[in-house]
Amino acid sequence: MFEKISDQTIQQVKNYNGIVDFIQQYLTLKKRGQNYIGLCPFHGEKTPSFTVSPQKQIFHCFGCHESGDLIAFAQKIDNLTFYEAIEVIANFANIDVVREQSSKEMKQHYNQLERTLACFSQASDVFRSMLNESQFAKDYFAKRQLSQESIDMFGLGCCGSSKQLFDALKVLNVPEADLVSSGLFSKNQQDIYCRFQHRVIFPIADYQSRIVGFGARITDPTSNAAKYVNSEESKLFNKRKLLYGLSYAKQSIKQQKCVLLVEGYMDVIMCSQYGFQNVVACMGTSLTVDQVQLIKRLTESVVIMFDNDKAGQTATKRSIEILLQENMNVNVVSMDQMDPADFLLQFGADALKEKLAESVSAFQFFYSFSKSDLDISNINHVSKLVADVLPILKCISDDVVRSHYICLMAQDLKINEEVIVAKMDELLYNKTQDYSIKLDTNKVGKNKYQKAEETILAVICINLDLREYLKGVDLTIFITPFIKSLTEYVINSNELDGVLLENASAEFKSSLGNVLMLATQYDTQMIQKNVFFDCLNVLSKQKFTQDISQLKEQIKLYEESGNETELEKVMAELDQKKKGGIYEYKY
Ligand SMILES: [Zn+2]
Repeated sequence: MFEKISDQTIQQVKNYNGIVDFIQQYLTLKKRGQNYIGLCPFHGEKTPSFTVSPQKQIFHCFGCHESGDLIAFAQKIDNLTFYEAIEVIANFANIDVVREQSSKEMKQHYNQLERTLACFSQASDVFRSMLNESQFAKDYFAKRQLSQESIDMFGLGCCGSSKQLFDALKVLNVPEADLVSSGLFSKNQQDIYCRFQHRVIFPIADYQSRIVGFGARITDPTSNAAKYVNSEESKLFNKRKLLYGLSYAKQSIKQQKCVLLVEGYMDVIMCSQYGFQNVVACMGTSLTVDQVQLIKRLTESVVIMFDNDKAGQTATKRSIEILLQENMNVNVVSMDQMDPADFLLQFGADALKEKLAESVSAFQFFYSFSKSDLDISNINHVSKLVADVLPILKCISDDVVRSHYICLMAQDLKINEEVIVAKMDELLYNKTQDYSIKLDTNKVGKNKYQKAEETILAVICINLDLREYLKGVDLTIFITPFIKSLTEYVINSNELDGVLLENASAEFKSSLGNVLMLATQYDTQMIQKNVFFDCLNVLSKQKFTQDISQLKEQIKLYEESGNETELEKVMAELDQKKKGGIYEYKY
């Protein structure tokens, strides 16, 4: 499973022309003209703006601007790595996956990973069987009111002494070297020591349900040792890329179209025991982008159920920011200073359901949270509050929702809505200055020059001869800076379609996808040539008019200031310009 996929297989997958078939597995596509359209799987929409071009073997969404080739789609939709995507597509297309004779080091490395996984799997069995003979662990789980079913389902166990664990694994023929290299044991001189000894054990699985490490909790409340210890960070056990409970919750998250995010292992297990299966926990750190990516494979909606203490609120705030930036729908449940496990034990499942129904949007939570420390009769505090919540407001992509919150905020703070909107614009403008002019063929009110620029760009994306021609054109005829730099990118590339798109920087990618879709309507060389030169001449004419009026303005200024020498120069220039007339581009 860990061997490198050969370049030959990768090439075959890249050459595979089945983007429409592949995507149809995920959504319904309807033919429209040369392309196929459907409801975008990457953002919620009611009218289809997700477009697939069988000709170019690319997809593009005019709503959320996701773009790419088939491999990019496979990666994005299931959140796969490049090589995972290659494998998935190869399977779909009946392409044999040829694996390369990887280097000796690579082989050793993968071999090591396999052995560590095997070792963890065996250890997990031993921990479970140790539970039967261990009163402290049985007492602990009984005290936490865990059912036998929950204990079995989550594979909970316990670790006796280091020696007991070591001996048990030796009986199972696990090589001693693996016990150390897996990180399960550390060795000094003669002693072999397991950091999990005398603790209850929570096996931790990755997305593919492989046990990649353990969490271990001390049960003696009088002990000075750390309450929890985890496996050491390693290639397999990366806390930032794991969510506790995810391997059990996957199905339910898909069905419920929502995930409940809690803080502790015990919260996950107790929720499950009370019938809430779609629950995962971060791994003792605040939520990371990698973890959000895992969630995204399954759903776009998250309900956060953290403690309401200050630490919990701060963690919630940080999680909200990350989730909103990743375009997730986020709600927050107020847990009244209790963790979900204790809450369920005290009040039961129905009470939690009520809580869930009362969840508030992330913005509302964030607003109340920020406001709680401030005195809004003080205008400086109001200003601080607005500044605090603007970054969150900015993350809300739906304009209607955003303006709704702005309105509520203005009422609550007794200030003018426009003030907030202005601050908001300022923030948006500063942050996205370079991206502010996006290509969007659906946008109304676009002027004809911008359309001409876009058309030229579209045509040179598919026609290398015209791309070559454009190299000789003075690009100052382009008015829109963003389109101009995008055009420069294309001119400097020798690639077409998917590769052109894949090599583009993030800044260009979505706009370029848009343009490539636009290009599909120019399907013959003849049409391409005609529109290309028409558009060039539209821009040329506009440039001429603009130059003339600029010169006239200068003349006016010099006349007023009485600067004779400059005036003469500019007048001569104007004459020259007029005589030259509008430059006409021809093939
Ligand atoms: Zn979309």
